[in-house]
Amino acid sequence: MEIFHISAECYPVAKVGGLADVVGALPKYQNKAGHLARVVIPCYDTKFKKENKFECVHWGFVKLGKFNFSFNVLKETTDKLGFELYLIEIPELFDRKEVYGYEDDIERFLSFQIAALDWIIGRNEMPDVINCHDHHTGLIPFMMLYCDKYKKIQNTPSMITIHNGLYQGQFGFDKLHYLPEFDLAHVNVLEWDHCINSLAVAIKCAWAVTTVSPNYLNEINYSANGLESLFNIVRYKSRGILNGIDTEVWDPAKDKMLEKNYSVENFQKGKQQNKETLCTLFNLDPKKPLFSFIGRLLEEKGGDLLPQASALALSENYKEINILILGSGNQEIENHLNSLLVDYKGNYNTFIGYNEELAHLIYAGADFLLMPSRVEPCGLNQMYSLRYGTIPIVRRTGGLKDTVIDFGDDGNGISHDQASVGDICYSIQRAVSLYKDKKHLNEIRQLGMNTDHSWEKACQEYIEVYNLIINKV
Ligand code: ADP
Repeated sequence: MEIFHISAECYPVAKVGGLADVVGALPKYQNKAGHLARVVIPCYDTKFKKENKFECVHWGFVKLGKFNFSFNVLKETTDKLGFELYLIEIPELFDRKEVYGYEDDIERFLSFQIAALDWIIGRNEMPDVINCHDHHTGLIPFMMLYCDKYKKIQNTPSMITIHNGLYQGQFGFDKLHYLPEFDLAHVNVLEWDHCINSLAVAIKCAWAVTTVSPNYLNEINYSANGLESLFNIVRYKSRGILNGIDTEVWDPAKDKMLEKNYSVENFQKGKQQNKETLCTLFNLDPKKPLFSFIGRLLEEKGGDLLPQASALALSENYKEINILILGSGNQEIENHLNSLLVDYKGNYNTFIGYNEELAHLIYAGADFLLMPSRVEPCGLNQMYSLRYGTIPIVRRTGGLKDTVIDFGDDGNGISHDQASVGDICYSIQRAVSLYKDKKHLNEIRQLGMNTDHSWEKACQEYIEVYNLIINKV
């Protein structure tokens, strides 16, 4: 089966969060299973682009209203990622350092989607399925169905995978003329809540809708940033497939970013050595339990709760625990977190920014990973931490509920119900008690390390959904 994944991110080419990890892994496992999975993303000004070789396999023009952009399709020449990678190069719009966050994001991602489809329909053979990811590629299923110039691909099934339904890519009808010509009888398909909503369009037009965990699919029926009723309507074509993790990239026995590699056989020594390195780097005490947080510092992740929860936990357990925060996002939260540095020096530290190497070292060296998320469609951090023998402390939501069971129920982690300072601190207290019971602590760590979160099963489920929609043709 030939599959095209079209996305805004792909690890290790361009990463902001979990979307990149999934798009950088799922196609690799689909290829290993005997399919031909390719990835198409925009060509940003990234380290990967600079350090690798590409050949131009196609060029063309995108017309966006009165604007004209020339584009190239660049193919990575070695296939070293485990899949064919294609970058859509539109220098005026994408030759920039960041993936998102520009005023012209609508124009950027619309041009990308049009260029990607122009190239795909210019090929001799159409793929068996097009798998779009999140709202940045949400207009593709619509264009495939209704735009005159894409008639050739009208009968090819499309699927939208929702990694985060909070972000929907809305824009006004004043930009309707950016879309390639289509039969205006279908213009209402574009509308949701008085604007063009890219994610809603994809949900309506794609032949199948998947979310990145089964529990998230249940949750979005009553909490989806305005799309609840739409999710109810399309339930018949929806499925929640729990993400896997790339066990080749995330392997404590081989991870080059660690100070010391280890496996489930010798994890106590290995973890301690990584912890000592981390504690030296961040002026913390390696004899005390180390609690960490890695991620975007936003309300969605419970980031706003971290400063108060850290201050409270440190004052209650002062000199008993360490806390280390790695992340960036809301400036107010960042400042609040940094304001604790003086009072809790020696027990608390932060790294405000994005640092892939440090994230790996933290998964290995921390004892507990905090994830007090309000919304977590799947969450990969808890799966990485389990694999690295670090116990996740999570709020029971989305994919966290599917993957972390409280140790009180013989599970692999610690979980609480509320995204609140009180619940986080209570969980930290339970973790401190657990930390003193080394036998029990190590049993839970072992359980986590032995859990199979590999992509093989999820990969099979994706293929099942593709087959369902292909057989409908
Ligand atoms: P989301 O995509 O919502 O941000 P996920 O849990 O699905 O959350 O994926 C987060 C990914 O991003 C993980 O690979 C995590 O290690 C990584 N990550 C997030 N923030 C940082 C950071 N500041 N530095 C390094 N890695 C980070």
